[in-house]
Amino acid sequence: MDGKTHYVAARRENTRIAAAEPAGDAQSLVEFECECSNITCERSVKVPLYVYRRILESKDQVLLQAGHHAPTPYRTIVSMGLMSIEERRV
Ligand SMILES: [Zn+2]
Repeated sequence: MDGKTHYVAARRENTRIAAAEPAGDAQSLVEFECECSNITCERSVKVPLYVYRRILESKDQVLLQAGHHAPTPYRTIVSMGLMSIEERRV
């Protein structure tokens, strides 16, 4: 499994989680898988469901544990606590 494969698998699982419309925890945070390129990464990242939906809708954004990176060149657009979002460079 290379980095791209890890990203694709995490994205598939996260899409499934989002489609199930989970209520999340007391702060409405839902646990998603880190979509980085590290094949051994098993980190989860907590964000509100609407935030992850926006990532999916944008098509060029990736949800990550802070400090982890997407499989292709991306720039960080949001970094908050343990969560970061990267966007594909154009
Ligand atoms: Zn990761």
